[in-house]
Amino acid sequence: MNSFLPFTRPSIDEQTIAEVADVLRSGWLASGPKVKAFEAALSQYCGGRPVRSQTSATASLEHALLVCGIGAGDEVIVPAMSFVASANVVVRTGARPVFVDVDLHTRNIDLAQAEAAVSARTRAIMPVHLCGLPADLDRVYALAERHQLRVIEDAAQAMGSSYRGRRIGSFGDLVCFSFHPNKNITSIEGGAVVGGSPEEVHELELQRFHGQEKSAADAFETYFAGGKANLSDVAACVGLGQLRQLEAFNLRRRELAARYFELWGEAAPLALPVRGDEGHNWHMFAARLPLEQMRISRLEFIEAMAARGVGIGVHYPAMHLFSAYRALGYREGQFPNAERIGRETVTLPLFPAMSFEDVERVVNTVNEVLRGAMR
Ligand SMILES: *Cc1c(COP(=O)(O)O)cnc(C)c1O
Repeated sequence: MNSFLPFTRPSIDEQTIAEVADVLRSGWLASGPKVKAFEAALSQYCGGRPVRSQTSATASLEHALLVCGIGAGDEVIVPAMSFVASANVVVRTGARPVFVDVDLHTRNIDLAQAEAAVSARTRAIMPVHLCGLPADLDRVYALAERHQLRVIEDAAQAMGSSYRGRRIGSFGDLVCFSFHPNKNITSIEGGAVVGGSPEEVHELELQRFHGQEKSAADAFETYFAGGKANLSDVAACVGLGQLRQLEAFNLRRRELAARYFELWGEAAPLALPVRGDEGHNWHMFAARLPLEQMRISRLEFIEAMAARGVGIGVHYPAMHLFSAYRALGYREGQFPNAERIGRETVTLPLFPAMSFEDVERVVNTVNEVLRGAMR
């Protein structure tokens, strides 16, 4: 019997483990030289733009909104299909998340609906590059310019993706990445904001560290009640080791995704994701179950797959249907594509350490479970 295949798993090499041991012995564990080096390497990767690390993409997104001056009375347009952090951060600033639907196939923001959702209170739009497939950024930035909106890209899943040949993060307004262990590179927990004016970059530093600045050994100033979201040198050291491997990781992800398409051809028993182009980093391989033709539920499908040793993820429930957002007045039926994805989505295993045999095993197991499950 094969061992359990999870839907994702980070790959940490021995060199990184040795370097982390050196950091642990160095006497400097919190933000120090490794954080500076990680930010410099990320900046180089993003075409020289400023990068300020944070302890998560959630903190990065929240602080990006704050440095744009977004707060009570403001609205931010957010797709209804994303990880819930995308909307939560807007609420945490005091602003209102205004949901719009997504395209059923790309799962990215529907920009016609976004345009229609712009009001006098709209301050920003937050495109999410779901599963690593970039949103249509030409249209996003054209819309933002027409209505003078800030763009906060939720690029948590898009490290190493590119849009029309340009790396996500190397252009645009404020772009936020995640280095959670499930993402394409990890710093255990971590995130970063790319971009911003010099004043905004300075404010990002204050937001992540108590709103405080030290100008001499005995001189501190606190400008506002900032948060605490500075990365540790241990985390940054892991991130540096991962960044060295990013291109190889993403190349492998593309090969594995291509293998799924090759094995299923036109005959897949579930709706496969759109293929995108070489700019897709294949953060996730998320398909949709044909629930209406099935005799079993998604939960029963997931359990049947687990019983056969294959882990399946669910990314994501539509955000507007959570009680936190129903409380803001959102209701079932408002965003049919996000709701349908939320009901039908299943994430199949895809991570760099997988083999082609693992992909075959997933395909055969899905085929077997669904064959026995159709009406
Ligand atoms: C993972 C993720 C986040 C949050 O990232 P953290 O680093 O865990 O805070 C936000 N948005 C999306 C789309 C994500 O996938």
